[in-house]
Amino acid sequence: MRRLLVAGNWKMNASVAQTEALLSALCAAEFSCDVAVFPPFPYLAQAVQTTGNSTVRVGAQNVASESSGAFTGEVSASMLADVGCRLALVGHSERRSLYGETDAQVLEKTRQLLANGLTAVVCVGETLEQRQAGREEAVVAEQLALLLRELSNYDWRNIVLAYEPVWAIGTGETATPEQAQAMHAFIRSLLQEKDPALAAATRILYGGSVKAANAAELFAQPDIDGGLVGGASLDATEFSAICQA
Ligand code: PEP
Repeated sequence: MRRLLVAGNWKMNASVAQTEALLSALCAAEFSCDVAVFPPFPYLAQAVQTTGNSTVRVGAQNVASESSGAFTGEVSASMLADVGCRLALVGHSERRSLYGETDAQVLEKTRQLLANGLTAVVCVGETLEQRQAGREEAVVAEQLALLLRELSNYDWRNIVLAYEPVWAIGTGETATPEQAQAMHAFIRSLLQEKDPALAAATRILYGGSVKAANAAELFAQPDIDGGLVGGASLDATEFSAICQA
C-alpha cells in the first residue's frame, strides 16, 4: 500500500527563528504518515540539522536543471544531497507561471534529482480558465507526457506527483474531494497505461488550500496519497493537525 505523505511548502517565508520553532514543534510530534518540509534555500542546512534523526524529511523548493558550472543563482541536486536534503519540488505552478519553467526543464530537473538519490515531487495542475474550458485533463496529461515518455524506465519510487489546481493555490478555494479524486484517478490511469506496477506504487498528492478542516476528507479518497500544503504549513499546530488527518 502507498504510505501517505504530507509535505509543507513554505515558499518565500520563514527566518532562522521560525525555522527552529516550526521544526522543533513538528519533530516533537508523532505521525503515522511521512512528513516533509520545503523551507527556502538559506534554511535548508539548518532544517536538516534541526530535524536530526526525526522522521521529518527536508526538501528544496527548486533545483537546477544542470549538474554544475556557470549558472549564477542556481543550486544543483548534488548540493542539495550534500547538505542532507532528501527531496525537491519541481514544476510548482508559481515556478511555471512566474519564472517560465517548462515541461522540458521539469524533466531535466527530475533527472538531476534522481541521479543524486533525491525524490522529485513533480507538480501539475490546470488554471481556472483551463478547467472552465473543460481542458483540465488534457492540460495535466500534457504536463506529464514528457516525464512518462522519458522516465518510464527509471525507478519511480523516487518520483511523487502532486496535483495542484492553480485556482486552488493560496486562494482559500479547495477542489472538492470528488473533483480532486477524479483528477487523481485520471493521473493514475496515465501511469497505468505505462505500467500497472507504477500506477499502484506512485504517490499522488493533492495541493490547493489544504487545511486541518478539509484534509481528512481529501486524504480519504482512494487515489489521494497525502497533501502538498502551502500557507497552512507555516503554522505548526495547523500543519500537525493536517499530518494527523
Ligand atoms: C502550494 O503552494 O503548493 C499550495 C498548495 O499552497 P496553499 O496550500 O497555500 O494553497
